[in-house]
Parts: sequence; C-alpha cells; structure tokens
Amino acid sequence: MSLPGTLSNLIDALRVLPGVGPKSAARMAYHLLQRDRAGAARLSARLTAALDTLQHCRRCNNFSEEPVCEICASPRRDARQLCVVEMPADLNRLEETHAYKGLYFVLMGRLSPLDGIGPREIGLERLIERARDGTTEEVILATNFTAEGEATAHYASELLKARGLKVSRIARGLPAGGELEHVDGMTIAQALLDRREV
Ligand code: ZN
Repeated sequence: MSLPGTLSNLIDALRVLPGVGPKSAARMAYHLLQRDRAGAARLSARLTAALDTLQHCRRCNNFSEEPVCEICASPRRDARQLCVVEMPADLNRLEETHAYKGLYFVLMGRLSPLDGIGPREIGLERLIERARDGTTEEVILATNFTAEGEATAHYASELLKARGLKVSRIARGLPAGGELEHVDGMTIAQALLDRREV
C-alpha cells in the first residue's frame, strides 16, 4: 500500500507518543484529518506554542513559561523544605492536597538501569546543586514506592547525606508499588506528615 508522503510522515510522527504503534497512529491520523480538522489545527498550534514557550524552571526543573516558576518565585512558600518528586504530575498531586508549603524539585524521571536511565539522565546532579543553596534544611524524598522510585530515593539520599544535608522519605502509608498520581489526597498528606529521616 502506498500512502501520500505527507500522510505516512504524519503517521510516523504520531508514533512518538508512548504506547502508540503503527495501527493506532494511523487511526489517529485518519481521525484528525477526516473527523476533526479544527482539533488537528489546534493540536498543531498548541504543540508549537508549548515547544516555543515552555522551559525547565531554573530552580525546580518543572515546566515553566518563565525562567523561575510561580511556586519557586512565591514568597509564601517555605524555602527550608525541598520535596523531590519524579514527574510534574506528582507535584500537582501534592499541591492539590494543600498539605505541603515547601518547595519542589522535579527529577523528570526515575533511575531505571534496565532502560539505560542512570543518575546522569535524571536531574540528580542539579538536585544536589539546588539542595545546597544554603536555605534548604530538609530534603523530602517523595518518589514513588515502586522498585525504581525506591532505588532513586536511596541513591539520592546517599548523595545528599554525603553532602551533610538532612534527608527524609515520605511514609509508607502509600501502598507498595503505589504511584502518587493514583493515591488519594488524605493518604498523601499523612505520608508527608509521617515522613522519617533516612
Ligand atoms: Zn520552579
């Protein structure tokens, strides 16, 4: 079967999305072109705008339209606490609980040696640098309770403690294998409260 070049290029491009194989990519392309051309134009414009506008916050590594994001720039946050999470969705989850008033650092991943993701691929060096700003008194590790999240917390805690920083881990009120994104707010708030020094 020979497709017009622009169409097969579009199908190829859609495969950058996680979990999307050739068949679903083709379905998406036909849907956008046939059923929702306005939606397709919006997607294209917003994707370009996001790529042009969003950068990593210089302090917390989260996505931001400014060099320093709103949370990091807020004088109402407690700069003595620095909470480390894997992904922006985890940060959002913690914010929704209103249980935490400190600052964050977003790793944008977790250690996963089997997938070739080592300390260098996630922001551990930047985390160390960030935690040594002279204001941070406690680093709270809130990576997920999955094998990778635990390994990441362990590795980060060793690095941070070696530099004289106080490190704690959120409590295991969360289920084993639990991902913050899917846990209710009360449980997350309690896990923060019950954190222990590591
Ligand atoms: Zn920030």
